[in-house]
Amino acid sequence: MRLIVIASGSSANAAVVENNGAAVLVDCGVTLRTLKCGLANAGLSLSDLRAVFITHRHSDHIKGLPVLARAADIPIYSAVDIGLCTHFEDRMTQGGFEVQAFECSHDVPCVGYKISCGEKSVCIATDSGTVTQSMLQALYGCETVMIESNHDIDMLKNGFYPARLKARIMSSRGHLSNSDCAKLVSYLAGGGLRNAVLAHLSENNNTPLLARAETQGALSRLAPDSGVNVRHADAGLIIEF
Ligand SMILES: [Zn+2]
Ligand SMILES: [Zn+2]
Repeated sequence: MRLIVIASGSSANAAVVENNGAAVLVDCGVTLRTLKCGLANAGLSLSDLRAVFITHRHSDHIKGLPVLARAADIPIYSAVDIGLCTHFEDRMTQGGFEVQAFECSHDVPCVGYKISCGEKSVCIATDSGTVTQSMLQALYGCETVMIESNHDIDMLKNGFYPARLKARIMSSRGHLSNSDCAKLVSYLAGGGLRNAVLAHLSENNNTPLLARAETQGALSRLAPDSGVNVRHADAGLIIEF
């Protein structure tokens, strides 16, 4: 099974989960060209996509969807009602994958997805101001997780964003900070976590180095022998598990 990052950050998000040539796309905040390039980089094409799952209606997650829907006949689902997709409740089976939605805490209705094939599963959890109970339940015991590590708190506090936007990002319906992510990953290390992919990094209030250092630092203090592989969700990153 593979997790393939097409794009991740404040401006565009899309990730692919693949198993034996069958793939599903989570979010489509990229152009069709970027999606095709990202798939080709992993030896895949649009025809390998069995379904698209959307987390929420913010443009960094859906802006490529109308063009994709015209270019390819792929079913589009979401566990939140956003009008553009077929709505489903909690879990479904599609293209050989079992997909379970879990609730995130954001300023619009938002979910993450746990995608499983047999014994293997990956969770994608971004755009949440706090770690919800259902998020924790889905993530714990997963071998590979893609978790939001949006901002460094000091960079955000001292940065140029207006006070209202800073407050929104830091609120319980905003985004997870590096420190939130570090605590969560350290906890998940006790459940057999192998790969932590730090996602949705802010271009203005974070750096990959800071994000990785915070989670690696917490792991070395709280779970020193866990051996968790920490990466940031750079476009083109492929994790095999
Ligand atoms: Zn987002
Ligand atoms: Zn969002």
